[in-house]
Amino acid sequence: MLFLLAGENTDILFLMLTRQDVNDMRGGRTKFVDGKVLKNNKFEKVVVSLHENQTEIEEMIRQAGHGKLLPGMESPVAEKTQAVCQGCAGITEAYLLLESRCIACWRETARAMGS
Ligand SMILES: [Zn+2]
Repeated sequence: MLFLLAGENTDILFLMLTRQDVNDMRGGRTKFVDGKVLKNNKFEKVVVSLHENQTEIEEMIRQAGHGKLLPGMESPVAEKTQAVCQGCAGITEAYLLLESRCIACWRETARAMGS
């Protein structure tokens, strides 16, 4: 997942998802846009698009002439009350993890055992 605010004083958030993001969400995982990365900018509209993978997104941004935005793009970091799932590297509230794994990962484990 990659997200961008269009220009300065903008009100549009571009949210670019990969097929992997969508598969994760189908599996029950939640994707977060980190408020720190948005630097308290406000937006009123969200444009959501689907892409094959992260490379395709970066290529599209470069072709649109915004390649200089890419190096500064930070990955979300867990807050104090949050933790990173050992299974899928997803960030979630720490109390929602069981033995360092989120419910979606446990469900996949349970399904694999059941089949
Ligand atoms: Zn997980």
